[in-house]
Formats: sequence, structure tokens, C-alpha cells
Amino acid sequence: MVFKAMRRYRLVNKRSWMPMIPSILYFSPLLASWKTQFHTTLCMYGQTVEWKAIQSIDQSPTFAIVLLAEKDIKASDWPLLASRRTIVIVDEWSLDNSVKWIQKGAINCFARDDEHLTAWLISEISGLTVNRSHQAEDDMLQIIIDAIPAPLFFKDHLHIYRGCNTAFCQFLELSREEIIGHSVYDIAPKPLADTYYKADCQLLAEGGTQRYEAEVQLGDGSIHEIEFNKAVFTNSNGQAIGQVGVMLDVTERNQLISQLDKATRTDPLTGTSNRREFNLIIQDEFEKRKHSEQRLSLMTLDVDFFKKINDKFGHGGGDQALQLIAKWLQSQLRSSDSLFRVGGEEFYILMRDTNIQNAFEMAERLCKGMATHIFSIDQKPVHITLSAGVIELDPTTELESILDMVDKALYEAKSDGRNCVRPVYL
Ligand code: GH3
Ligand code: MG
Ligand code: MG
Repeated sequence: MVFKAMRRYRLVNKRSWMPMIPSILYFSPLLASWKTQFHTTLCMYGQTVEWKAIQSIDQSPTFAIVLLAEKDIKASDWPLLASRRTIVIVDEWSLDNSVKWIQKGAINCFARDDEHLTAWLISEISGLTVNRSHQAEDDMLQIIIDAIPAPLFFKDHLHIYRGCNTAFCQFLELSREEIIGHSVYDIAPKPLADTYYKADCQLLAEGGTQRYEAEVQLGDGSIHEIEFNKAVFTNSNGQAIGQVGVMLDVTERNQLISQLDKATRTDPLTGTSNRREFNLIIQDEFEKRKHSEQRLSLMTLDVDFFKKINDKFGHGGGDQALQLIAKWLQSQLRSSDSLFRVGGEEFYILMRDTNIQNAFEMAERLCKGMATHIFSIDQKPVHITLSAGVIELDPTTELESILDMVDKALYEAKSDGRNCVRPVYL
């Protein structure tokens, strides 16, 4: 999603942001011959104007006076009607149709031969600007919203930007003049503008507030996660007349949340997942097992006589041994197995797609492998053995009693002399 500063016409008076009156009139294909005659009429009243043919409304600058034959207007032109001073020329005038176009954002609607059009247009191009009776309030509001560091904008009910703060201009790398009075189609590439336009239509129709996160690529190419907070505002009759949006850059916050989340699920000593992560994963996998035929088994492991390692090498040496044990265990696992350090020198291994027989064989292989492996701590060889319990997770048995049974099996292995596996057959 990229907002790009595009070259645009500047027909805006910088001080008041109000458009200066252009003397160029843009017209659509079906008005080609009509405008010649109309031009003569305007000349009779001393109005010299320049005419420019356009195929669609986006070929005209914002704030321009654009005359469009009704039959030339495509649905894709609708979002831009209110960003220009659009006049719709109809073959046959009716109040209903006129109001329909005005509600879509046209400034007026005339029949081809209606002399009111001449009068109205002369009034427009002879320099009558809109009376800014609320300028002082507007200036104060601008000062207030500029003090807000988060990008903020508001649009009218026709999706035209009517105000924004400095942070919003900086965010888009556009000047205020390049934003105010424009449609989103003027400042964003069409696919992105389509998305925003659709979301805006939905919000206006539903009312209330909207909050969502989206990735936005800034001018410098960096991708930011932005939280959009939008709210519809209404007039005294409760009619939706626009929406205000505030954008919060939550990139850093989200990174911190994910780092924190990872930290709470990881054992800092060995880098393996911890008991907290095990509790989450086992619940999830157990639920899945209830609706699938895929077998699931669990192994509990406890290092034999670990206190002796601590006694011999000190706590630091013991820590080192735990790191080596975790690394070795991890190296023995399949990609579908998960290792957890759930206590001091206790580990769990969750084995997906594994029945009790395979789990038992795997536990035996691990215990034998560990017993024959020689670790090195402080350059001294160390032999380590493990005791293990294994169980298959039967979906009809309570998870709590499964965990209870497999722990008991481990202690059976301990009391049976250690360095062995005790399976639970349900
Ligand atoms: P066994 O399991 O065979 O009965 O004997 P054990 O010596 O391993 O006994 P137990 O499981 O009761 O004790 C485990 C010891 O592990 C106790 C504790 O001092 C040590 N320990 C627990 N966590 C850590 C740790 O993070 N680092 C170190 N260095 N030692 C730890
Ligand atoms: Mg132990
Ligand atoms: Mg223990």
C-alpha cells in the first residue's frame, strides 16, 4: 500500500485553502459540439474561457469546473464528482435526477439549453468566492489538531478530505493543499483508493466507529503497521455527514508485544519452549485430536541424579549441562515433535502423528542415545541418563488425568532404577 506524492494542479489559495476560480472549463466527449455554441453565449457576456476536452473526470484537476454530459459519466467517476466543481448536463432536466446527481457530489445539474446555466457559470467564473464566515473558528481548530502528533483527517459524506493536521501531511508527504478538497483517488493509487473508498462507504452506512490495522508503505519504502481509528460524525438530525480518522503507528508496539509474547513462552536458559507454551499447545492439540484420526503422544523426561552434576560442577556447570541436554534432545527430534523444558531438569516431548508403540520406541531410543552420549563440561566427560514416561493422548480421557498418569509413569521409571522408559497403556 503506497501513498505517493503525485504532481497535481494547485488551484488553491494557500491562506484560506479555498479554491481560486479557474477560467478553464473541462468538458466530456458528448458536449464537444454543444460547448462551441455555449462559448459564443459566454463571449456575448464578456466571459472568455478556455475549454479542455477530457475522457474521464480524473483528467481534470481538483477544484476545476467540469461539465459532464450525463451519458458520459461512468460509475468510476462518481467518487471524484465532489472533488471538482462538477456540473452535470442532462438531455431532459428533472428535479429527481438533478437531486440524485447533487447527492452524488455534483455541484449542479442543468439541461443543455437551460439559460440558467449561463448565469450560474458567469457567477462562478467571475470570481465570487465562498464566504468564510467561520474562518476564526477554523483557524483555531487547525491549531488544535496540528498539536496532535498522530496523523488525523476528516472527510465529508462524499469522501472528500475536508481537513487534516500537520502529522497527516507529513505521513503522506503531501502538502495540505494537495489533500484538502481531494478524493482518496487523487492521492492514492487506484487499487488502494478502491479499498479505502469501500471501507469508507461501509463505515458511513453503518455509522459508529471502526478500528483496524493495516500495513502501509511510506515514501521511503519502509513498511509500517498502522492502526486506523475512524468515527462517523452526524448533524443534529443524526444524519452521517462525514468521518474522522486517526492513524497510530503501532509498528514498535507490535514488535514489543511479539517479543514479549515470545519471551513468556520461551525458557531463557535453553531457548526451548517453556511450561506456559506447553499448556497452550497441549490444549490446542488435544482439541484437534478430538476431531481427527491423527494420533498424538506425550513423553515426560527427567534427568537422573542431576543434583550430582550441580554438586560436581557448581550451578553454572549444571546450567551448562541443561543447555547441552536440551540441544541434544532437540537434535534427535523430527520436525513434527516439540520439546518443552517444563521444570528444572524436566522435559516434555509432544509427538504428533505418533501412537503409543512408536512413542515408546522413540523414548527408548532417546534414553539409550543419551546414556551412550558423552557430554563435556569444563573439559571433563559427563555421562547423563534419563528416565521417561510415555502415553498416547486418548481423546475420550480427560487431559488432566492423562498428564497425571504420564507423570506417575516417569516416577515408576525412577523407582525401577532410572535410565528406563515406562509406558502407560490406556
Ligand atoms: P532424580 O531425578 O534422579 O531422582 O534425581 P535428581 O538429582 O535429578 O533429583 P531432582 O529431580 O529432585 O532434583 C533436580 C535438581 O535440579 C534440583 C535443583 O537443584 C536442580 N536444578 C533445577 N533447576 C536448575 C537450573 O536451572 N540450573 C541448575 N544448575 N540446577 C537446577
Ligand atoms: Mg532428576
Ligand atoms: Mg526433577
